[in-house]
This record gives sequence, C-alpha cells and structure tokens, in this order.
Amino acid sequence: MRPHCHETRLFIDNQHCSSSKEETFRLCNPCTEEHLADIAIALKEDVDRAVECAQKAQPAWAALPVQQRAAHLNRLADLLDREATKINEVSSTRLGEGARTTADPRIQLDAICMGKPSVLGESSLLTPGQVGLSVRQPFGVCGDAILPWNVPITMQLAAVAAGNTLILKSSEKAPLSAAFVGHLIAEAGFPPGVIQILSGGGATGKLLAEHMHIRKISFTGSVRTGRLVAQAAAASNLKNVSLELGGKSPTLVFPDADLRKAIPACSQSIQFNSGQACIAGSRIYVHESISHEFIKEFKKVFGTYQHGDPLDKSTTLGPIADEIQVKKVVEYIEIGKRDGKLEMGGVRVESKGFFIEPTVFLNVPDHSKINVEEIFGPVVIIHTFKHEHEAIKRANDTEYGLYASIFTRDVDRALRVSKALEAGTVTVNTAAPTVSQELPFGGWKGSGMGREVGIDAVKRWTEEKTILIKVDEKHEC
Ligand code: NAD
Repeated sequence: MRPHCHETRLFIDNQHCSSSKEETFRLCNPCTEEHLADIAIALKEDVDRAVECAQKAQPAWAALPVQQRAAHLNRLADLLDREATKINEVSSTRLGEGARTTADPRIQLDAICMGKPSVLGESSLLTPGQVGLSVRQPFGVCGDAILPWNVPITMQLAAVAAGNTLILKSSEKAPLSAAFVGHLIAEAGFPPGVIQILSGGGATGKLLAEHMHIRKISFTGSVRTGRLVAQAAAASNLKNVSLELGGKSPTLVFPDADLRKAIPACSQSIQFNSGQACIAGSRIYVHESISHEFIKEFKKVFGTYQHGDPLDKSTTLGPIADEIQVKKVVEYIEIGKRDGKLEMGGVRVESKGFFIEPTVFLNVPDHSKINVEEIFGPVVIIHTFKHEHEAIKRANDTEYGLYASIFTRDVDRALRVSKALEAGTVTVNTAAPTVSQELPFGGWKGSGMGREVGIDAVKRWTEEKTILIKVDEKHEC
C-alpha cells in the first residue's frame, strides 16, 4: 500500500499547524523525481513558540512520578508498533531500504528502563559534619537531534524519560515519518508541550542551536554541520552538546577469515541504505594473500542488485536521497577514476530517480579524497595489506572514528586489533548495520562527542547537582 497523503505540518503543543508565514519547501520522490509534498518550514516565530510551549510544560512533566512518564512512553511505543508498517512506508518513500531499517522503539524503551538505576545519584559521609548528596535532574528544554535524512524517526525518548521536554527537527530530505509521529504523540496522551516536531532546513536547525532557552542539544548529521551546531551553542548560552557525526569506516579482512560470511557482510555494509549510513564500511583492507579471491567474490555479491522503489520487495538498492546528494556521489566517483582503478559500477543508473550502481575502486592512494572523505553512496574502496600493524595504521589514518570491523577466526588477533582501532564501535566477524541498543553508541575523533543509547541513555539527559547538608555532630544530652 502506498501512502497517498502525508502529514506535512509542524507539531507544537500537541497540535499540527502550518508555518507562521505559511512557508513551505518542496519534497520530491527520489525514485521518480516527482513532486511528493510541500512541507512546512519552522520560522523564528514557530521555533520560539515551540520553545515557549516546551518551557511551560517542563516543570509538571519533570514532577510526574517516573512510572507515569514511562507509561506515556510505553503507550507511544505501542502506537509506533501499531503504525510500524505505515511509518516504514513513509520512510521508504524517501530511503533506500527504509522498510528494513527503522529501529524498533521498544528496544530503546527497554534500554531506557534498564538505565533507571544510573539516574539515582550518590551520597557521601566522608567529610565530618556533613552529609553530601548528588542528585540528577533534567536539563529543561532540549533540542533533539537536528536529524539527518537516514535516521528520520530516531527520537531521543531518553530525553523525555529523564523529565526534559523536547523539540525535534526533522531532516529536510526526510521529514514525513517524523511529522506523522506527531499524531501518535497526541494519541498517546502526552501533556501538550512535552514533544514538538518541527520541519525545515539548516536555518531552522540553526535557530535551535543558538536558542537561549534550550539547555541541551543532540545533533546527528555531518561533521561540517556538527561544527556549526557546536559553535552556535558556544556563542549563545553554552548549551550542552552531543554530536553523532559521519564516518569513513574501515573493515579489516585477515587471511584466516571465513570469506563465506565476510563477503556478504562487507557487501551488505555498503549496500545498506545505498551506502547512506554513517557506519557504512566504505574502506575494506584485505590481506594480499586472499585479495584476489575476495575481490572476485565480493564483486559477484555486491554486483547482484535490483535498483528500484524501496517499497517493492525485490528492491535491494534504493535511491540516493536527492539530486544534490547524487551529484556529490558522481563527483567523488570522478575523483576515484582519476586517482585509482574503477573495478565495477561507477555510473548513475539511466532511469528516472537518483540511483547509483554499486561501485568498487582499487589501487586508490591512502590520501586520495575518496579514501578520506565520506561519500554517502554505494561506493567502496578495496585496499590490500601485508601486515596487521600496517592495516591498523592505515585504518586509523582518518579524522573519523565511528565504526570499524574485523574478520578473523583468531581470538587474540580479534581482541588485539579491536583495542588498536580508533573507533566508537568495533565489530568482529560482523559488520554494519550491526549495533547494540543496550551499549553506548558514538564516535571517536571527528565522528562526534558524547554517546547515545545504552543503559546510561537517560543519565546523559540529566545534569548533576551536589547538595551539602551540615550536621551538628555534638551529642546534646
Ligand atoms: P547535514 O549535516 O547536512 O544535516 C543534518 C541536519 O542538520 C539536517 O536536519 C539539517 O537541516 C540540519 N542543519 C543544517 N545546517 C544547520 C545549521 N547551521 N545548524 C543546525 N542544523 C543544521 O547531514 P545530512 O547530510 O542530512 O546527513 C548525513 C550525515 O549524517 C552523514 O555525515 C552521516 O554520517 C551523518 N550521520 C551520523 C550518524 C551517527 O549516529 N553518527 C547517524 C546518521 C547520520
């Protein structure tokens, strides 16, 4: 079933509404390049109103017993479950394999519930004459994830669980699923003002990043924009910032790897969402003794794809998000052709829509732009290496540090190399999109600041306060 009509408005104070000056932007279907919807742009007046509503709602929301806040979140999770097909359809209208990639909200909620003990704080009697307590309290109004297009409805439910109220801004490339979720928030019975959902481009995101009444902002997107968000936060009210940014993730394939498992995993890692994933394994380092076989078999698996509408079950490679992005991928491919050897693909599919053939480059110098910068398309560079230490050095020779994978049957090597790789997540004998909801996720180096999910997810949305109580220790009678 195709979605016929989409929610395109802002969601403020539990109500959908147009932009204050009726401003909209055009959204088109990346499979057909046809017009899909006109989406409301949140202007300064709308952002200010969203923040005011969130400010008004926050004290009462934080004062609710945690079980009541959890009950609201559980109702929302039930509704997200109920509407999963529709949400997937709406996401898929924009995304490569959206129908198969939307996170299960319940997993996030389970992780949040498991995290409850970590928000309890500590106590101390170590200083004579004093009882010390440390307690954790919400920040207040938080700006959620100025989202990228490839994770359209990841909502920072942990922020709301902690007692904050939230303003979420969707990506201008994928605003539909977030706008639809507004209906579910109202249906779940959240008090007005607890969660608002805004749409718009970078200008709307900037208004959130520099807002004086937002106390924490979580941003997911590119390194370039992450820097701007951090700068805006510093220049305004020094709000707390967490950043989930890009990646150029390496995969190391050692001679003892089980290639029957490694090859499909490496292929899926760069084919997933058509390579539009921050954790995509876009650089493969394969030992020279097995490189011939690896490359031959990898091309067979990666080359077997069916491009098309992600809503069709037979589609294995969806479109690139929009015209700007597809042109960017083509530019990188041209650089690859100059700097290295094009082994497979390298062209835009000749049909309507923004499709790129699965592309493999060999013999690319380590410092070539396509080996250093995030491409965000189905483009992979395969290198060969002689020694473990050489592979580690080259894998780490990047400003990114989000994710890395290793394929080996040797436990010592798996642990030694995991320790040496500079990445927030290292997977062994599996590759992206493998992630854990119960353990922290985030980037080293230029891939970000702070962590998300995991049992400490709620704690990260709280401020710590120390309370010191003087105690008269002299016995009176
Ligand atoms: P982007 O940085 O262009 O945009 C992300 C969001 O920032 C959008 O909602 C955009 O409107 C907003 N924005 C733009 N300018 C802004 C400004 N000046 N101030 C505030 N907000 C602004 O990123 P994208 O191209 O949409 O997404 C792809 C990027 O996201 C890739 O680099 C990818 O690796 C990264 N990503 C990271 C993770 C992670 O968890 N680490 C997850 C998904 C995507």
